[in-house]
Amino acid sequence: MGETMKALVYDRSLDPWESTKGLRMADVNRVTLDERADYHDRTRVLIRPRYVGFCGSDRGIWFRRAFKDMIYGSLDAEAKQSRSARDVRIIGHELFGEVVDVGSDARRTFGLEVGDLVSAESHIYCGACHQCRVGDAYVCADDLIIGISYDGAFAEYVKLPAKVLWRTNTDNIRPEVAAVQEPFGNAVHACTKVNLRGKRVAIVGCGTIGLFAVAISKALGASFVIGIEPVKRHAEMAQRLGADVVLSPRPGATDYAHDPELAAEVRRATDGVGVDVVLEMSGVNASVNNAIHCVRRGGDVILFGLKSGDAIIESFDRVIVDGINMHSVIGRRIWETWHITRHLLEGRDPNIHDLVWEVILNGGDGPIIDFDSFTPESFEKAIMEFPKVVFRFDQ
Ligand SMILES: [Zn+2]
Ligand SMILES: [Zn+2]
Repeated sequence: MGETMKALVYDRSLDPWESTKGLRMADVNRVTLDERADYHDRTRVLIRPRYVGFCGSDRGIWFRRAFKDMIYGSLDAEAKQSRSARDVRIIGHELFGEVVDVGSDARRTFGLEVGDLVSAESHIYCGACHQCRVGDAYVCADDLIIGISYDGAFAEYVKLPAKVLWRTNTDNIRPEVAAVQEPFGNAVHACTKVNLRGKRVAIVGCGTIGLFAVAISKALGASFVIGIEPVKRHAEMAQRLGADVVLSPRPGATDYAHDPELAAEVRRATDGVGVDVVLEMSGVNASVNNAIHCVRRGGDVILFGLKSGDAIIESFDRVIVDGINMHSVIGRRIWETWHITRHLLEGRDPNIHDLVWEVILNGGDGPIIDFDSFTPESFEKAIMEFPKVVFRFDQ
C-alpha cells in the first residue's frame, strides 16, 4: 500500500462546483486487485490505459454544466460504504487499454487474460433490475457511469468489472480510433434506431456525434444526407465525411423558434417532401423544432442531443397530425451496438476508420495529447478547437 498514481480528477473539497472549472492532475492511491480485501475484485480487471478520449460529458464536468448530482451522490454513497470521506472522482470513460491483472471470476467467466486489449461500455449495468432482465441493460435502473459515478480512466490504472469490457483487435482498428468506439457507438445507436437504407436523412448538429452520424448513415445506405451545422469548420468536416449538402441554420425570433428558411431549403432539396429521417444531435431547443419542421409527414425524428430542463415544442399538433414518429436514443445497446460499431470500423468499404482518423482526429495532429504533459490552459484550448481530443498514455 501507499503507492500512488497520477489521475485527472474532480476534487469537490478543493474545487467547489459553483466557483471553479477544469480538472486537476493529482496523485491518488494506486488501484490494485485484492480479492481478499474486496470480493467484488474477483469479477474485476485492472487495466493500463493507452488512449482515452475526452467526451462531451467530460466537457460538461470541465465547465460545471452537468453531472454535479451524479458525482456528488456517488461520492456520498462511496463514503458511506467505506466509512471515510470521499471527495475525489477520477474522470474519463472512452477507454482503450491493456489488461494487466484479472480477477479469478473475470478470467473464468469472460476468458480475459493479461495482455488483452480492451475498450469499455461506460454504463456499468446491474444485471438484476427490470430493464436488465428484459434485455434493455442500456437503460439499467441502477447503472453506474464510468468516470462520473465510478472512478474512471484518466489515470495510470483503472479497475473495471469484466462484464463491461470489449476486446478490440488493433490489426483492424488503430488504438487512437479504438478509444472512440464508445462515442462512435452513440452515433451507431442513433443511426440504427430506424432503417436508413435508401432514405433521405438530415443530421441537425454536426458536433462529434453528429459528424460520426454523417459517415455512419452513408455507410448504412442513406441515399442523401443533409448536414445542418452553423460552425464552418464542422460543416467542412461533415462534407469530408460524406454529407451531400450542409446547410446553416439562422437564429430564430426566440431561442426555441425553428428557422422557416432552413425548412424550405430542406424541402427544396427533397422534391418538396422533407427528409425521411432527422437525427437531432445538438440538444438545442431551436434544433429540435428545426428537426420537426424538416422531416416529411410520417417521417422519423431521432432525438439524441441532450439539454437539461424544459423545452418548447412549436406547433405540437403538427407532430400528431403529420404522424411524425419521435424516438429518443441514449447510450448503446449492449452489446448489439458494439458489434455494429466493430463491423463499421473494421470494414474498409466505405473506409470510416480512416475518415475518423483523418477528419475527426486530424491524423493525430493536435487532438492527441500526452497525458503527462497536461496543463489546464493548453488542454482547454485543444477541446475548444477539435471535435474530439484523446489522451495518450506512456506505454
Ligand atoms: Zn463519452
Ligand atoms: Zn440494471
